[in-house]
Amino acid sequence: MTPIPTTIASDAMHEALHRVFGFRSFRPNQREIVEALLSGRDLFAVMPTGGGKSLCYQLPAVLLPGTALVVSPLISLMKDQVDGAVSNGIKAAFLNSSLDPAEQSRVMQALLLGSLDLLYVAPERLALDYFRDQLIRASISMAVIDEAHCISEWGHDFRPDYLSLSSIVDLLPDIPVAAFTATATHLVQRDIMVKLRLRDPFVVRASFDRPNLSYEVRFKEHGDAQLTSILRKFSGQAGIVYRTSRKSVNDTAAMLQKKGFRALPYHAGLSDQERQENQEAFIRDETDIIVATVAFGMGIDKSNVRFVIHADLPKSIESYYQETGRAGRDGEEAQCIMLFSQADIPKVRFFIDAMLDQEERSRALDALSKVVAFASANVCRRKTLLGHFGQSYPKDNCGSCDVCLGLHEVVDCTTEAQMLLSAIVRTDSRFGAAHLVEILTGSDTKKIREFGHDRLNVFGAGKGHGKKFWRQLIDDLLARKAIGRSEGLYPVIYLLEGGVGILKNGERVEITRVVEQKVEKPSRKSAGPAASPADAPLFEKLRALRKRLADEQGVPPYVVFSDRTLHEMAALKPRTPDEMLTISGVGEVKLARYAAHFLDLIGAGGK
Ligand code: ADP
Ligand code: MG
Repeated sequence: MTPIPTTIASDAMHEALHRVFGFRSFRPNQREIVEALLSGRDLFAVMPTGGGKSLCYQLPAVLLPGTALVVSPLISLMKDQVDGAVSNGIKAAFLNSSLDPAEQSRVMQALLLGSLDLLYVAPERLALDYFRDQLIRASISMAVIDEAHCISEWGHDFRPDYLSLSSIVDLLPDIPVAAFTATATHLVQRDIMVKLRLRDPFVVRASFDRPNLSYEVRFKEHGDAQLTSILRKFSGQAGIVYRTSRKSVNDTAAMLQKKGFRALPYHAGLSDQERQENQEAFIRDETDIIVATVAFGMGIDKSNVRFVIHADLPKSIESYYQETGRAGRDGEEAQCIMLFSQADIPKVRFFIDAMLDQEERSRALDALSKVVAFASANVCRRKTLLGHFGQSYPKDNCGSCDVCLGLHEVVDCTTEAQMLLSAIVRTDSRFGAAHLVEILTGSDTKKIREFGHDRLNVFGAGKGHGKKFWRQLIDDLLARKAIGRSEGLYPVIYLLEGGVGILKNGERVEITRVVEQKVEKPSRKSAGPAASPADAPLFEKLRALRKRLADEQGVPPYVVFSDRTLHEMAALKPRTPDEMLTISGVGEVKLARYAAHFLDLIGAGGK
């Protein structure tokens, strides 16, 4: 293979970046990756979600002769990627089971004629002899493995189909192979490189930091009011609410619909058709909220997701990072909120205990304890997340997580802890959290009277605090192993060794409490001109126009223009096609296709 001389490549690269994609500059690592691929080198790149991985191979695909083959795990992902590429004038197509035979053979013909820049395929296709023969006959410029972590059993999303990719270097020995993923610990990285048999690859480990995301963990109050009050603040914006079980997804979605939210459920128990419809509605901005199990998200490239809420404990830090990573792909601010209570842990334990494979079980337990530590420690969330991927965070204060924003205060709760522990001792460790709280707050319930607990001297001793305070204290004492909770249907709280020290020796108990319920808007972290509140009405009109054009063409709105692009238009108000071209995300093809509509609207002052 003849490498493209770097000087020519460099000019051509920047020219194509601007002309095809409408971008002013490369994001971190993109230029180096494009150069490596243009020079014919294998590549391994971990870049966070929203980091701009697609451009890293789409740009060389445009510049190199022949077709770039892209292996991608999900049908929906392929379609959106192709829609996006085509909207920029790139000759792209996909091959998968959603096409009928005639369509498939048209795509194959285009491939063999060399009239495609990009071809997306599912991994299982590469195992088919027929397809492999065709690939050898076609002119393939490079092989790209997207979501490459799927090849590793150590990753969080192993797909056996991906294993067939290990033979790609035998099949197409003369072209570069490039692996991309958004999550890989060092262990997973090594595994991917070995399995794909990459040859002296150019390796990029981009920062995992997502500066435009803010992180917050809140004490979970069991009840719908907390979730609805959070969602009211995001009114009209798109976001995902993750829940663990199908039933809780259905319940939450129904509850939200009843309260007037535009919310739809998504989980593996729904029919294919319903799942597809709900996902489409979300992608096309026709519903605001998707309430989902972890089954949702991997196939979603929607760039304007403004919030991700974990209403239950995520499975691992890795999946938490991946799930929250779906927010703010467009680089605009987005919020990630986790609702956490120690009381959720037994439910997760229950599933883990049911696992048959010993190794799998201990891996799951380890992951659980790390997530719990993440949620309960008073340490910068960003620092902990990055640390998980072996990356250190240089600043003391990230400025956009609940811990760094000082939304917590440390309070001495030794006396309260002693009251609680003594209530446990006086009732012989035979009652659950709810009943203990009733005792401390002096409730007049039938159960209290039956057991004569209104005669205990701790009865009503904790009236000064609300029930929420006491539940949180129980959570905290569970976390620090001062008390334990039995398993089973009616778990009881009992005293542990650590609790004795508090009760007898007055060891200090400090808990962190939320001072204020909301992460203040983080200082604006996104690039591009700041949108002023005065531009908001124009932005909304541009958004409506985007939706109309997208519907006419049968593509998702973000394929027409991203939120970032619309914000820039609203702020800079371009008047001419040339001015329009300076807006990030407006390339030649989109200029020709859409600019007139947007210029008219802006020219008319949004009327
Ligand atoms: P990833 O696959 O890494 O999650 P994408 O390739 O989907 O990320 O890109 C995320 C968003 O960033 C897209 O909206 C894309 O158009 C945009 N983007 C990519 N590269 C650039 C760039 N150099 N300048 C501006 N926006 C970019
Ligand atoms: Mg991607």
